[in-house]
Amino acid sequence: MQYADEFRDPAKARTLVEEISKLAALLAKARGRPLQVMEVCGGHTHTIFRYGLKAMLPEALEFVHGPGCPVCVLPMGRVDDCVALACNPKIIFTTFGDAMRVPGSKGSLLQAKAEGADVRMVYSPLDALKLARENPTREVVFFALGFETTMPSTALTVLQARREGIRNFSLFCNHITIIPTIKAILDSPELTLDGFLGPGHVSMVIGNRPYDFIAERYHRPIVVAGFEPLDILQSLWMLLKQMKEGRCEVENQYKRIVPEAGNAQALAAVAEVFELREFFEWRGLGSIDHSGVRMRAAFADYDAERKFGVPGLSIADPKSCQCGEVLKGVIKPHQCKVFGTSCTPERPLGALMVSSEGACAAYYRFGRIAIKPVETETVAS
Ligand code: SF4
Repeated sequence: MQYADEFRDPAKARTLVEEISKLAALLAKARGRPLQVMEVCGGHTHTIFRYGLKAMLPEALEFVHGPGCPVCVLPMGRVDDCVALACNPKIIFTTFGDAMRVPGSKGSLLQAKAEGADVRMVYSPLDALKLARENPTREVVFFALGFETTMPSTALTVLQARREGIRNFSLFCNHITIIPTIKAILDSPELTLDGFLGPGHVSMVIGNRPYDFIAERYHRPIVVAGFEPLDILQSLWMLLKQMKEGRCEVENQYKRIVPEAGNAQALAAVAEVFELREFFEWRGLGSIDHSGVRMRAAFADYDAERKFGVPGLSIADPKSCQCGEVLKGVIKPHQCKVFGTSCTPERPLGALMVSSEGACAAYYRFGRIAIKPVETETVAS
């Protein structure tokens, strides 16, 4: 297959749905409950809703939307740290667009920009480095965010800055790692997961072997999946086939992109610049050991946290916000008390409503959920 259309072929989709439905019915009957499959990645959630896959698939198969949207799991305290950095008059604060609207306790970066902070949207860390070159009298901070997918480009940009001797560039590092997070989910007593659709883009960097523990220690099958509708359907079929045959393996549906051993050059750049933090706080999931990275001491001059200091406070989510329960799969997005009323993509209360990859935003835009009229209750904070 060479073109996107080939991954959206309706006839092939119908055949796969039929096969999945047969397997799901069989497996759900044996378990006495619907199957629960977690799609780890926000990109998968987006495809499932955008292309109406959820509506095509049987009720015997339930999706649990995982924590793989980095914007969605950013805790309020880190957003407040971004706003504090952006309000420093020496700093040009640069960020990807979807992070600008994530609410913190003191508003979002977009609100800080409206109030005069120099916040600029960029498409890559190299854009931020270019700004540093063009503005030698200002400090340019890049809001480094994302899983292993985006870590290499950030690391390579820091190495480039050092090669060029650029000193007015630094990172506010919020990169996170997927493996400890999946482990924390598997250890959660609230969840009964039967299998995983593994994150395709992260796996392009780390490869498939880091997932072996899911099959070996937790006895759950996982299929690393691509992002087109047929990728998702084929991966689900592979996953259910493993379950029917009593296998628990790591399979790779996204072979056209994901090499078995990952990308050695990308991993080397990441290892040179970053090291694991002891713990990192996730919105809704709390603190997870070794789930984030910071810059190594050798790169302290490029670390905005060391260079400028940040408040670093832990801030609780608003009481009415149920992002944590959605992230853990305890409730579906539309079951949150404020879904579609006090929390909408235009005025998000929680981070899952901000990014197009957020589960709540996907339900709101494509879920065909009947929205109740806006409630008059005041949102507690
Ligand atoms: S509807 Fe809003 S507050 Fe509720 S879980 Fe979703 S993002 Fe969080």
